[in-house]
Amino acid sequence: RRGVIAIDGPAGAGKSTVAKRVADSLGFAYVDTGAMYRGITLLGMRTGIAPSDSGEKLTELVRSAELKFEAGSGGLRVYLNGEDVTRAIREPDVSRQVSYYARIPSVRQVLTLLQRELAVADGIVMEGRDIGTAVLPDAEHKFFVTATPLERAKRRLKELNQEGYRLDLDQLVREIEERDRIDSSRSVAPLCVAPDAVVIDTTDLTVDEVVAMIVAKVGN
Ligand code: C5P
Repeated sequence: RRGVIAIDGPAGAGKSTVAKRVADSLGFAYVDTGAMYRGITLLGMRTGIAPSDSGEKLTELVRSAELKFEAGSGGLRVYLNGEDVTRAIREPDVSRQVSYYARIPSVRQVLTLLQRELAVADGIVMEGRDIGTAVLPDAEHKFFVTATPLERAKRRLKELNQEGYRLDLDQLVREIEERDRIDSSRSVAPLCVAPDAVVIDTTDLTVDEVVAMIVAKVGN
């Protein structure tokens, strides 16, 4: 068995880039669970269902949503009820809202089951906040990838600039810290380090270095 690699960590730590590269180099499939939470968030925003609305409405919303993920050359494509929303789920408005939807227990329950189904296949890199702690506590390999809030905001800023968004660094640091706070304090599966995870602080590391560390560890 080639196993499952869980990669968790806070927003903007470079998890996606690293997870994608690790998957490529090992010939594993790559599952970005943040994209699932973003898909639900986009659906909620579009249908006018706020995270503070009744659990019933939201549960219905989650059950009726058809989220599809397709591995392509440019990374993972996400479809929501048939529409390609790969770009739309990365918009800053969605980033600002996603943690409020992600803390709703029924939303987490549905997505966690879906993620476990995906992980039945062998040779998977699954990336998120609670993979090693809640979704796949038996994963063979667990990593917690992090960096300082300032470094994470700088990386996000660079990415957003490349996509044509203009935000300032101070605002991004505040948004990232706010997301950390909500993700770490929710009642179900909060962001935390699994006791058996290898912690990698990437503040002063390049993507290549982080990928090499993970691949070496998995190979041992
Ligand atoms: O990784 P990404 O920044 O796309 O994740 C967006 C948000 O989705 C996170 O801030 C968090 O609120 C939520 N999330 C989660 N559990 C996961 C993955 C993402 O709660 N496994």
